Amino acid sequence: MRFQRLVQIALFVLFALLLWQAKYPLAEGLPVDLFLRLDPTILLGTMLVSGTWITDLFRGLAVLLLALVLGRFFCGYVCPLGATVDAADWMIRRKKPGRNGNAAEGNTRIQAWKYLLLFAVFCSVLAGVSLVFLVSPISLATRFYTVTVYPVLLSLADSCLWFVENISSYLGLDGAGYLQIKHVSFNANVFTAFFVTGLLLLGLLRPRFWCRNVCPAGAMFALCSRKPMVRRTVNDRCTDCGACIRSCPMGAISNEPQRTAHSECIVCLKCMEVCPENAVSFRWTFEKNAAPAVDPGKRRLVLSGCAGLAAGLLLKTNVGSVQGSAKDLVISRVRILRPPGALPEEAFLDRCVRCGECMKACPTNTLQPVWFETGIDGVWSPKLAARYAACEQACNLCGRVCPTGAVRPLSLDEKKYAKIGTAFIDRSRCIAWEEDRACLICDEICPYNAIVMRPVTDNRNTVPFVNENKCNGCGYCENKCPVLGEAAIRVSPHGELRLFDGSYERTAQAHGLVFHAKGGLEESFSFTKPKQDGNTSPEIPPVPSPDQLPPGFTSD
Ligand code: SF4
Repeated sequence: MRFQRLVQIALFVLFALLLWQAKYPLAEGLPVDLFLRLDPTILLGTMLVSGTWITDLFRGLAVLLLALVLGRFFCGYVCPLGATVDAADWMIRRKKPGRNGNAAEGNTRIQAWKYLLLFAVFCSVLAGVSLVFLVSPISLATRFYTVTVYPVLLSLADSCLWFVENISSYLGLDGAGYLQIKHVSFNANVFTAFFVTGLLLLGLLRPRFWCRNVCPAGAMFALCSRKPMVRRTVNDRCTDCGACIRSCPMGAISNEPQRTAHSECIVCLKCMEVCPENAVSFRWTFEKNAAPAVDPGKRRLVLSGCAGLAAGLLLKTNVGSVQGSAKDLVISRVRILRPPGALPEEAFLDRCVRCGECMKACPTNTLQPVWFETGIDGVWSPKLAARYAACEQACNLCGRVCPTGAVRPLSLDEKKYAKIGTAFIDRSRCIAWEEDRACLICDEICPYNAIVMRPVTDNRNTVPFVNENKCNGCGYCENKCPVLGEAAIRVSPHGELRLFDGSYERTAQAHGLVFHAKGGLEESFSFTKPKQDGNTSPEIPPVPSPDQLPPGFTSD
């Protein structure tokens, strides 16, 4: 096996292991987002659009500088999407193209697409919209393996467990019956699977079609590796048989096999392997043997820049969808629950590269990719789906694994004050309010004591009220509400606390928010928070005097 293949497989396994390790509890100091931080498109796209200096992403710059020496080694050795494309190409086993069909000269027009796409993405940044998430190879690979492959693997493992349990019980080994494999599911997984499968099927047209023609990170590496210091050289033994030209997965070798388009070469060493004369080597040299580099053309560059800018402006002014109605006099873009510690919405969308690392790490599986609920620019960003699962108090992994700081890394104490939203009660669905039946589930499950039960006129049973100042928006009530379908108590982003910097605890306290986990000492709280919109819970009635209470209730 070629040296390149060995290294590529080893690094892919490292990528998979790090992604696997993005789980609760997270090992201290383990760089689970290492590969994401190496992607130069994430580095430049995120920093430009957010206008902030993100020190942790500077490894991407180091990798880019290394391309000046080693050429596009990242594409051939490090990129997990490149490894996936190689595996798909191997399975597709397409017929090798003829010599002229794969020479560097015959492909330049299509190979220029990647430069055009790169330029379009960076022009969209001028409009203040980050489209990096659509094209960053590492983000795409991380998202694909998180949202699509990981849940399928867990399901398969669970099926295997069924066999293991049966065989072991036949053998009298009962311990296997206690084994369990957690299931996870993700919204938009089918869309993601189709998206990536389509990308891999491009291999039917050409090997490594994505890497040679489309990938903007590949374009950045190509720009840095026009004259690498370690480069392909061919000695006099070459008989001009063309084996290397046919086998090159990137179409980087010229019709004269001695010449190489270095910016396209991913140093895969395949030409060295197939050469019957051992005429090819890769070494440190300044030999002038370059084939003409791909030229995207000025006019096409201007056109792609305009297209990127227009796309950015369109997305920026896209309403997406609205909530409320003209009658309510409240029309605003749909807001959704974001992970605790998420930056304010606009900054969050600028920084989030939709890698899915936070969703992979989330132990309750409440973080789900957004579909088109918030418009096109929100696709694949994480939302908190409280009906599906709640946000665990003792976990702060989403912020710890986020490579771009779209979700701030918070200590558990600080995270408690990062209010996700506020629960409100839909009285028409609540069985205590509407049907006058006893139900205490939201009150009992709320970890912050934010639900209080009070008697009201005309009801025999007490009914729930939300104390907004104590509600952290964790979603346990919505998740456990026994009403079928949409819950009777739901968490809305109303009252969310999202800070760009500074202390959540101090800000929350300044707003009169008091979050104490159940069993805490805090017992008195204020009901004075003014109503702000239609989702605000009604005023909670005061505790009635003992002689007004139903039998069995006390006022303390
Ligand atoms: S918020 Fe989640 S999906 Fe977005 S960049 Fe951070 S980890 Fe990736």
